[in-house]
Amino acid sequence: MMEDKSFTVELKCLFCDCPLKGDTEKEYVSGDMLKCQECGELNDYDALIDVAAEEGKGVVADHEQSEIDKIAKNLFK
Ligand SMILES: [Zn+2]
Repeated sequence: MMEDKSFTVELKCLFCDCPLKGDTEKEYVSGDMLKCQECGELNDYDALIDVAAEEGKGVVADHEQSEIDKIAKNLFK
């Protein structure tokens, strides 16, 4: 099985933590507000991106760690 190295980071409502379903036709830019379809709160796009970037870093860090583990196992087998 091929390893899928791609990953996506979901934008989640800052208020109720449910995934935001943005309008895919629309390009969101800094300063936009995304309305949550669950709780109706307006999420600041910049804040969402900050959170997503932090989560993305976590994903990347986990992935790199697993690569390091693999390399280490190969070295010491
Ligand atoms: Zn919400």
